[in-house]
Amino acid sequence: MNDHVTANAAPLPFIDVGAQRARLGTRIDEAVTRVLNHCRFVNGPEVIELEKQLAEFAGAKHAISCSSGTDALAMLLMAWGVGPGDAVFCPSFTFCATAEVVPWVGATPVFVDVLADTFNMDPASLEAAIAVAERQGLKPRVVIPVDLFGQPADLDAILAISTAHGLKVLCDTAQGFGATWNGKRTGSFGDATATSFFPAKPLGCFGDGGAIFTDDDELVTVLKSVREHGQGVDKYENVRIGMTGRLDTIQAAILLEKLAIFEDEVAARDRAAKRYNEALADVCIVPMVDPRATSVWAQYTIRLPHGVRDGLAATLQKEGVPTAVYYRIPMHKQPAYAQYPAAGNGLPVSEALSGEVISLPMHAYLDEASQDRIIAAVRRALGK
Ligand SMILES: *Cc1c(COP(=O)(O)O)cnc(C)c1O
Repeated sequence: MNDHVTANAAPLPFIDVGAQRARLGTRIDEAVTRVLNHCRFVNGPEVIELEKQLAEFAGAKHAISCSSGTDALAMLLMAWGVGPGDAVFCPSFTFCATAEVVPWVGATPVFVDVLADTFNMDPASLEAAIAVAERQGLKPRVVIPVDLFGQPADLDAILAISTAHGLKVLCDTAQGFGATWNGKRTGSFGDATATSFFPAKPLGCFGDGGAIFTDDDELVTVLKSVREHGQGVDKYENVRIGMTGRLDTIQAAILLEKLAIFEDEVAARDRAAKRYNEALADVCIVPMVDPRATSVWAQYTIRLPHGVRDGLAATLQKEGVPTAVYYRIPMHKQPAYAQYPAAGNGLPVSEALSGEVISLPMHAYLDEASQDRIIAAVRRALGK
């Protein structure tokens, strides 16, 4: 490793969207031009083709494209008729959208702690949260396990608890699309799965987009109605309250080109993660992947002793190495969410992680020289 990296080297990107664009050459431009020529900007042929390919990729019977990951979550709660008096269980250590959609439909988010090793929903805390909800007179309806930083949650345990309590399982794989659990891709577990194609996600479009996966034919009919203002058999008959939830044809055309190289990109991210693990395991806590899982490494997130993180970020920034903190405030401590119930113990793991984690640059085009520069800077900053 090069220990003589200059502090004034050009800053590295945190995610290199440009490198992917260069690799795809004119393919995206041509795909967009095709849409500009056929002018079917909404519900065009690329949307139908993308849904077919996404379902195949995920191993689900159906894929329903939509306007964002957040809308994918909301559309499912709407389709299931979740509402006032219902409890929806969300991890506290997540992006806000997981829980945000719950008050939209008038239901109550109940926050659950995460595991210290995988950062994903703690099944024991889910059990505690169900008991809290019942004591408060709420009806346990849905659990939303999140595949945080690209690794699937413990679906074996969460599905077992959900079956025992009659909960629907809405998997939030906005960060984990393409990852596997017991050899099967996310999108093929639970009652339904929501994902996001926000540009920074492992599979991103050039704007906002998302998708829902399910094997449930009846749910698909309802979701398609929700996506189009609650339309009935006739387009201008409204049989329920819906929304504008569609994915643009241009975004679908872009995603088709990106999906073609996605497996290769996931493999490159995995190689980069393994190199980080080997080079950093002696100076910090490197990510742990459950033996039943593979990760798509939406983030490469290390954990440090309390009080070290922000100093490290400042030092790295001076050396042109960007970092990010996901997430600095757990959901149950957020001003807009602190009023909602949480599993009984104060969610100590979520609180500790929010003060101790930091994410390093991670993308499919991270070359070894740039990665060595990041590794050397981290080791130097930690005095190793
Ligand atoms: C990004 C994200 C979402 C929301 O996706 P958008 O497409 O940005 O609406 C939901 N849940 C998690 C865990 C996310 O990371």
